[in-house]
Amino acid sequence: MRYKRILLKLSGESLMGSGQYGIDPNRLKQYTEEIRAVKEEDVEIAIVIGGGNIFRGVQAEASGIERVQGDYMGMLATVINGMALQSALESAGLYTRLMSGIKMEQVCEPFIRRRAIRHLEKGRIVIFGAGIGNPYFTTDSTASLRAIEIQADVVLKGTRVDGVYTADPEKDPTATRYQELSFQEAYEKNLSIMDMTAFTLCQENNLPIIVFDMNKPGNLLNIMKGETAGTLIK
Ligand code: UDP
Repeated sequence: MRYKRILLKLSGESLMGSGQYGIDPNRLKQYTEEIRAVKEEDVEIAIVIGGGNIFRGVQAEASGIERVQGDYMGMLATVINGMALQSALESAGLYTRLMSGIKMEQVCEPFIRRRAIRHLEKGRIVIFGAGIGNPYFTTDSTASLRAIEIQADVVLKGTRVDGVYTADPEKDPTATRYQELSFQEAYEKNLSIMDMTAFTLCQENNLPIIVFDMNKPGNLLNIMKGETAGTLIK
């Protein structure tokens, strides 16, 4: 395996699968299999999951909900997704802990850095819910920050495309994929990999990012073996 401790970022939207909103059980099952395959190789896995399938802070303003209130709603949405993922992983016989950036003790543990590391060392999959716990941030920033805090070797950003392209591959058929990029190049070319806060945190802390296709069966394991490329930003 290329890395010993990883932080996997999954978007909330990807959990919708073919649906319009909410959680697609088939997608949840598929992700569970992907994660289990990597866990079986003794990799330490932390996961940050988004909430876009349920609620996004920026949407809120349009519906008359104040931005900060909306952001908290978005954070709660990530806890719902985290709970779903936790259940799915546990049904598959994996050991997990859900840690939240907002205290909600009846539901999950509060995020305590040392404790998170301990869980990982004991082989538990740690899911970080409720983002950072502050408004005006995203789950991408949460992924970068938590990865640095737990000293992960890499952020694996699972998307529905197999890497970073010269243009949007869903719109432009001539777009080509980058194998590898430096942070500087990605910045200069204005490639949208993560929001700037998330991106800068990784850059300043020398934390590599791999963008890869999470929806292709077997891909997460292949990325870990170095058999599938994706795009590496370092
Ligand atoms: N959010 C926040 N602070 C955080 C993480 C998330 O305020 O630290 C809110 C923000 O409103 C965001 C929403 O939670 O829109 C859901 O997360 P995100 O949009 O990043 O999810 P994804 O796009 O990955 O599904």
